[in-house]
Amino acid sequence: MTQTAVIRVKGYQMEKILYFDYCTIPVLIIVLFATLMRKMTKGLANRLFITIIILSCINTVFDLGMEFMNGDDENVILSVCSYGYYTLRNGTVVLYALFLFAITRTWYRLKSAALKVAIAAPYAVILLLLFTNPLTNKIFVISEENVCERGEWLIIFYAITALYAVGELLYLVYCKRFLGIDKWVALMSLLVLSFIAVMVQLFYPQILLEMFANSIALLLVALLVLRPEEMLSSTVGLLSWKAYKMELKKIIATKQPVQIAVVRFVNAYEILTYLGEDRYYSYMHSVAEQVNQLYKKVYFELYFEHPDNMYIVFDSTDYQVEEETQKLYDLIMDKMKEIDSSGILPEPRICIIRYPEDLERYEDIVVLGHKFHGLIPYEQTFCRASDIIGTKDFEIGSNMDSILNRAITRQSFEMYYQPIYSIKEKKFVSAEALIRLNDLEHGFISPAVFIPAAESKGLILPIGDFVLESVYRFISELDFERLGLKYIEVNLSVAQCLQKDLPQKIEQLEKKYQVSPDRINFEITETTYENIGDVIHENLQAITARGYSFSLDDYGTGYSNIQRVSRLPLKIIKIDKTMVDDMDTPDGMTIMRNTVRMMKEIKKELVVEGVEQAEPLEQLAAMNCDYIQGFYFSRPLPQKEFVKFIMEHNGVM
Ligand code: C2E
Ligand code: MG
Ligand code: MG
Repeated sequence: MTQTAVIRVKGYQMEKILYFDYCTIPVLIIVLFATLMRKMTKGLANRLFITIIILSCINTVFDLGMEFMNGDDENVILSVCSYGYYTLRNGTVVLYALFLFAITRTWYRLKSAALKVAIAAPYAVILLLLFTNPLTNKIFVISEENVCERGEWLIIFYAITALYAVGELLYLVYCKRFLGIDKWVALMSLLVLSFIAVMVQLFYPQILLEMFANSIALLLVALLVLRPEEMLSSTVGLLSWKAYKMELKKIIATKQPVQIAVVRFVNAYEILTYLGEDRYYSYMHSVAEQVNQLYKKVYFELYFEHPDNMYIVFDSTDYQVEEETQKLYDLIMDKMKEIDSSGILPEPRICIIRYPEDLERYEDIVVLGHKFHGLIPYEQTFCRASDIIGTKDFEIGSNMDSILNRAITRQSFEMYYQPIYSIKEKKFVSAEALIRLNDLEHGFISPAVFIPAAESKGLILPIGDFVLESVYRFISELDFERLGLKYIEVNLSVAQCLQKDLPQKIEQLEKKYQVSPDRINFEITETTYENIGDVIHENLQAITARGYSFSLDDYGTGYSNIQRVSRLPLKIIKIDKTMVDDMDTPDGMTIMRNTVRMMKEIKKELVVEGVEQAEPLEQLAAMNCDYIQGFYFSRPLPQKEFVKFIMEHNGVM
């Protein structure tokens, strides 16, 4: 056996450079090892990738075998290596094409018979030519000196490889828009590096570079494309929300029909608090395992969005997901009973979205996944997207971005004022300023809908500025003394309280409109003081120091903490409507009575919101409440009507 491989070029014998092939094997083994260590063995793309690495490794061995066996007595080994090399070299090119379909989530395209033929036929030609080679000797021939010599038809192999490469290149160009540049470059690198290597080998046949170039490209793919750490949610070990969004973008870019079962755990926060993080995440994990069992016959992927949403994306639209929904619901409930026997139960809501029939836009699918549970009756546990789409709430939710931007640029907001009645003084002494939005397309939109949306989209500050400016202007136009009014209540959102220059803004408005600070009372919520940091703390102090007062809004809705309430510089506590509604039960009545008593004892003034009937009004008056705000007296009114209302009811001539 020869120790060094030689090549005959233009009559000269040249020593072949095999170092690159030697290096290929450790590189591929490292890639394989890393892939297995990162547990990337599930799913079609991962499996194809592992197969490509293993076959490339074997192929490099064949490549080296061919070089070493050239001229050796072992004719059989040379034949095996030659046939093995040509079979695998082209086979991996086909597998890479399949890998591209799997990684870009366009596997469903292979359902098309034409595409199947287009991919398989050239390789079938290669196999046929190899199969008949012992008779034809046109691809390669093993000479009498036991040297593998190229046949005249070998060029066909190169032409077919080039054909696959061009096809893959075009497909990658098509997929560029949803792949992300790093992934795209890594996937492209296999084609580019292979091309460079083939060119180098064409001009310098003694350098065996092709397999090495291939291995470097596979390393890049492993590093940049298959990144489990980017895809997995660190807490639960399931595919993450980010992975879901990326998948959704791919689905939409490639128009792959899918079904998505969104599972929303509406009481996730309560369960998380009750079970603690570790038990909650292990519950979610075991639910995911059961889901794997339930749908083991179909191809799907499960994603988890912390802490309350699961998305099950089914590749098939033929599969009747609805039929298994009850089983899905039951397993979610049963798993909780196994984990915790105290009786706490999840409240899952399931929505099936069919793409593209139900929704075609990425934003709409995301919004529906977050909102659907609020758009169906509370007791309903299952719905189809088609039942919800088209309702006004959904239209507003999915167009919120454009609605808010339109409203901000056109200033289509308006301030309304809801009168607040003083039980002791038997007249209206203040009012709450409440913003209204009348959209050109969707009509009236409740602030309970658009304020949280504006907060989450970072658009609340311009809205807050509008509110402040309007209220100061309104106050400057009113004759408070004559109307019998003392102050106007203005809602401040957390984001506003976080603005470093909030006290300066207020000072400027105060000077511009000549408004005395005791004419305004700012409302904050528990979320504001839960987020209390240095900025909010300093802002509240600075504003209080200027002479403004604060009230705590919506008391009784969150985890109201009386100790915290007593420590904050709050003048007024506003009791939420939900507590008023509960007054028709003995427990609700006891809670209200004791809350009022406690607040009075720590010297807070009390406004009770949401009073609609005379009966609770009388009961609250008997409890010694200070102020009442509710539809019983008046709904929020536009400025003019509000002034008219106050004049009439406060007896102003
Ligand atoms: P909020 O600050 O708790 O305001 C009280 C809400 O209760 C108002 O709803 C008011 O119309 C409603 N309400 C008052 N009495 C009754 C009643 O007897 N029955 C019923 N069913 N409802 C009653 P609105 O105007 O829809 O505002 C909802 C929420 O939107 C407000 O709750 C507040 O959190 C937010 N919001 C409204 N205007 C502004 C604003 O200018 N700035 C900020 N940051 N938030 C605002
Ligand atoms: Mg309020
Ligand atoms: Mg309130």
